[in-house]
Amino acid sequence: MSSATSYPLSGEDREIQGRARRFVDDELIPWEVYAEEHEGRIPEDTRERHHRLAIDLGLFAMNMPTELGGGGMTMLQQTLVSEQLGRVTNALGWCVHTPPAWAPAVVTHEQLDRWIVPTIRGERHECYAITEEGAGSGVDAIAATVRRDGDEYLLNGIKMHVTSFNSANYSFFQGKIADGDHAGGHAMLFVDHDTPGVRVVRVPRYTHTYADQHPIVAFEDVRVPVSNLVGREGDGLAFTYEWFRYERLMIAARCCGAAERLIEEATAFAKDRTQFGGPIIENQAIAHMLADSLTELWAARLMTYRLAENIDAGLDVKLQHAQCSMAKLYASEMAGRVADRAVQIFGGRGYMRENVAERFYRELRVDRIWEGTSEIQRNIVADQLAKRGVLGLLG
Ligand SMILES: Cc1cc2nc3c(=O)[nH]c(=O)nc-3n(C[C@H](O)[C@H](O)[C@H](O)COP(=O)(O)OP(=O)(O)OC[C@H]3O[C@@H](n4cnc5c(N)ncnc54)[C@H](O)[C@@H]3O)c2cc1C
Repeated sequence: MSSATSYPLSGEDREIQGRARRFVDDELIPWEVYAEEHEGRIPEDTRERHHRLAIDLGLFAMNMPTELGGGGMTMLQQTLVSEQLGRVTNALGWCVHTPPAWAPAVVTHEQLDRWIVPTIRGERHECYAITEEGAGSGVDAIAATVRRDGDEYLLNGIKMHVTSFNSANYSFFQGKIADGDHAGGHAMLFVDHDTPGVRVVRVPRYTHTYADQHPIVAFEDVRVPVSNLVGREGDGLAFTYEWFRYERLMIAARCCGAAERLIEEATAFAKDRTQFGGPIIENQAIAHMLADSLTELWAARLMTYRLAENIDAGLDVKLQHAQCSMAKLYASEMAGRVADRAVQIFGGRGYMRENVAERFYRELRVDRIWEGTSEIQRNIVADQLAKRGVLGLLG
């Protein structure tokens, strides 16, 4: 990538960015159409190869500390890698897994050995069981219960949209403490999926074509030792918010990657495709769609990189919260607009599943919904704006 027009990055940052880009271009993108045609799945030996390469290239668990076997990357470097992973469809980039970075600071030694370190090594895989029928944007409305019973907790609840449950072997289960000093507070617990009482209720189909499913999962009288509690009783919501902040930034980065790929592909097509005796890019209507897309991508990218650097520099958590919401809001809405224009530029081909614009048009839609909808991001930003003012938020 030329340095003339892009963000100032160190040599190490560029090397990491290039490593991720080559992995995406050489190994992942070639499997997109196959995945689309096979319910998101690719041959097992290829899936295993991608998993091994992600580890060998030092991209897997890039967000985890090096002393635990992770990549120890800066937030900016993680953003650069996520951006590249965003250039591929069908969630093939998910072979680069980022375990919960908040965990090492709060889990016990036993929990570290049993769940977190094996996850960093790629031997175990987690998922998040938080959302419920009656609790989506308003997480505090969860009805799942966590009841202390001697040396155990008894868990009950039905969770929705549990992403990757089919490829994970343990969940972070979030419920409300039923009684005792912390009654009504949130608790988060490790739950191995082979624990009696964990059951898939239904596997709904979603707009995208991913191998990772989002089932409805019942936790019925599930008993886990008290040592499975993450942190302390009442802490559960804080971990969820920390994860949201991180994921919102990474979603922004992936959306920038998706938009870049779409603009590249749509530009190449518009230069090549001839109608009425000339390439369609010579029509101002087409050229302006590309110009708007590139301009918006640049804005989103600058915002995303700058926020990552702010976090690396120790930005106050409340400001991080607002800025992560702004980056996710803007980048996800930008990518949605870019995908819509790309479909239009490809014309009928843009409506075919073998076309990258068609796939991104479907896949990017969820980035305005998960990890907090666009409306929730606006609520967060507006709340912080009222409290801190423009200068307080943007400097
Ligand atoms: C593909 C997918 C994967 C997911 N993976 C997971 C997962 O792994 N684990 C997990 O726990 N959850 C997961 N989720 C759940 C996701 O986080 C929620 O869908 C999301 O937070 C929105 O909640 P909801 O769907 O219940 O919508 P609702 O909260 O019911 O919102 C419906 C509409 O009302 C709007 N709205 C709600 N409140 C307000 C308000 N105060 N102001 C303005 N507008 C408002 C929303 O913006 C939205 O437009 C996933 C969802 C999807 C679609």
